[in-house]
Amino acid sequence: MVSKNSPPVCDYEGSDYQTSFWDQGGRGYEDRTEAIALKRLLPKSGQLLLEVGAGAGRNTPRYDGFERVVLLDYSATQLQQAQARLGKSKRFVFVAADVYRLPFVDGLFDGATMIRTLHHMADAPAALAQIRNVLQPGSVFILEFASKLNLKSILRYLLRRQSWSPFTREPVEFVALNFDFHPKAVRKWLQQVGFQIERTLTLSHFRWGPLKRIIPTGFLVSLDALAQWTGSLWQLTPSVFMRASLAGERSKPVPEDEIQWFKCPRCGSSPLVDDKQELRCTSCGSRWAIVDGIYNFKEPLSE
Ligand SMILES: [Zn+2]
Repeated sequence: MVSKNSPPVCDYEGSDYQTSFWDQGGRGYEDRTEAIALKRLLPKSGQLLLEVGAGAGRNTPRYDGFERVVLLDYSATQLQQAQARLGKSKRFVFVAADVYRLPFVDGLFDGATMIRTLHHMADAPAALAQIRNVLQPGSVFILEFASKLNLKSILRYLLRRQSWSPFTREPVEFVALNFDFHPKAVRKWLQQVGFQIERTLTLSHFRWGPLKRIIPTGFLVSLDALAQWTGSLWQLTPSVFMRASLAGERSKPVPEDEIQWFKCPRCGSSPLVDDKQELRCTSCGSRWAIVDGIYNFKEPLSE
């Protein structure tokens, strides 16, 4: 599932991830704790939200404060599943693209989320810099990442059942293109590209199979909801949420016509010309397909 791009991209093309992992995988606890965290961190309202790594749109209905949402994923088939789930409407715009070459003009969005996605980034700082570029001043960015500094990995390391240290800042790639990060490293990367970190929540305090089987999910979710606030003091859970923001005032209005939102991911020029079935770059000549309402910026159509 690894593409040819550099840095490599984890590709969920053709995957049944939504069904096998979320719908039938006993992840009700994780899903509900994420819903609570998002409610606590999301701004009450906004114009245009970028959802990076939207997948099959599991979290998208939770962004109802935003007038419009762009679902971005590397996999077009995941976006087809999202489209089936959410329906076709002007509110949702589906874009298949590489996070390292975002096809949007600078300062377009006033909000962004990236949940369970940084996890797959071989070059996390580069991905965060791309997201920062497409946000306008005053924007909010909600980031979830998998933390290497969690109780399980600390115990395993101390018992010598794990070779890598959970205490050092570098990412650990425990399976190909699956990375866990140190919370301090993520904080530093966010600050380096200009974000201020406003709030940190820790999630999945009770992600342990036997516990999840014995204790009713609703009760575990309530306990986790309380424990999330301790994220401002320490982070020792496998999943961490951060709310980051950019200084300044929201100024630029979002263009009504979504074609104006895009730039050519190959050469960076905008606007693109709308040829109905495709978008065309007048600068480098690249043509980008629009298939069943999904903009595809992964590879240009052949010339
Ligand atoms: Zn171009």
